[in-house]
Amino acid sequence: MNELNYEEVWKAVLAEIELNVSKANFATWFQNTSLLDTRDGSAVVRVPNAFTKEWLENKYNKAILKILRNLSGDIKEVRYTIATEAPQRHSSTPSKPRKRPSSDQVVASEQQLELGGFEVDPETGLNPKYTFDSFIVGSFNELAHAAALAITKGLGNSDQSYNPLFIYGGVGLGKTHLLQAVGNDVVRNLGLKVKYVTSERFTNELISAISNQTTERFKEEYRKVDVLIIDDIQFLAGKERTQEEFFHTFNALYEKNKRIILSSDRPPKAIPTLEERLRSRFEGGMIADISEPDQETRLTILKSKCLSKQVVVPEEILNYISQTIQKNIRELEGALNRVIANWRLTGSLPNIETSKQLLNTIVNTPKKNLTAKQIIKCVADFYDVQEKDLIRKNRRQEVVKPRQIAMYLLRTELKSSFPFIGQRLGGRDHTTAIHACEKISQQIKTNSTLSDEIKLVVDKLYNE
Ligand code: ADP
Ligand code: MG
Repeated sequence: MNELNYEEVWKAVLAEIELNVSKANFATWFQNTSLLDTRDGSAVVRVPNAFTKEWLENKYNKAILKILRNLSGDIKEVRYTIATEAPQRHSSTPSKPRKRPSSDQVVASEQQLELGGFEVDPETGLNPKYTFDSFIVGSFNELAHAAALAITKGLGNSDQSYNPLFIYGGVGLGKTHLLQAVGNDVVRNLGLKVKYVTSERFTNELISAISNQTTERFKEEYRKVDVLIIDDIQFLAGKERTQEEFFHTFNALYEKNKRIILSSDRPPKAIPTLEERLRSRFEGGMIADISEPDQETRLTILKSKCLSKQVVVPEEILNYISQTIQKNIRELEGALNRVIANWRLTGSLPNIETSKQLLNTIVNTPKKNLTAKQIIKCVADFYDVQEKDLIRKNRRQEVVKPRQIAMYLLRTELKSSFPFIGQRLGGRDHTTAIHACEKISQQIKTNSTLSDEIKLVVDKLYNE
């Protein structure tokens, strides 16, 4: 097996782990890992540092071994080896030289992670792998596709009727792909200045600009672009200060005839606590939805993925996958990767029966559904304080910190709104919740004990 095949196998393993652990955990423990070898029944996994090695050995070894064994029965054990840099690989897409974050940078940016790691251009936020060429169009997404394509053609005209373009649809149905494809196309073919951010990223940048007193620079950054793309705008719900800032950015760009493209998992009117003036701005442009692809389209997507991976998978298996995985293109791709990984590892193409087994876990394991109550309980247990003390008005130092951590986790793991978080932890004001989340996210950058504690709590949340 060559390097490239290991890469694919490891991708399939990670895809499966990702379904079962939190984003934060996944970013912390699995970023910068790779599979180096599987000879003699022993899989060798490269990890960036000793901390990760220990953690994977103790906490995730069983799960990793299980997934690998599921892909190939020959594997009997997993070993972890520390190496900071991945072996050199040439990438098929030329991109600018980029800085690698230091290997011990613990929590990766979620935005980067979601977009496929270090291929992302830090300035534009674009990953060159997302293109129109690799985007399959069917009746489920043709309106969104046409509207997106129109932007790449008609930017020069002053017709504002398509501005903003608001694309909505469920998870894993291609919103990010489409938004990124517009960005890439417009940079490449029109030489325009593009900025892509998730709404989380926008919020975080604003929060740190406020605390560093650099809001002017923040404003400038966002107002000098030709095309502003904001992904997953639903997470602005409940964030009043961010909504206000975004409203001004929006107006400044709109007045200059600059394009704004937004995505969300639901239409504007279904986003709770979205300010009326923003809602009406969103509704003033073009709204296009992406629904679920039918089976024939799912099959076409699988075939195009095979083509780009340069593998030939029998029609029968592709049919099976396309019939089984119905609601999510990301999972569809994951299922295909799994079949290919099994093939690479065992050296023989899986038949239908093996494919069924391989896909069994995708089909049958729902993601763990955390509740606010579980988070609060887990934090209280971890810090050995009473749950009711976290919830009651109590300023004793020993409960203040756990309370702030609980708030922070409600935010990161459940994406709860600040008003909800304040309410849930003792009927406090939303500004208290904002302050707590901000404080913890600042502190974990410099305080490694705190960040380790939070990792442990998150680990418990998802694994116990
Ligand atoms: P969303 O942002 O809606 O959650 P993504 O854009 O991240 O979904 O898509 C999930 C995965 O499915 C990505 O790997 C993407 O490339 C792929 N995908 C989505 N839609 C299409 C499509 N129409 N054609 C080809 N691949 C697609
Ligand atoms: Mg997305």
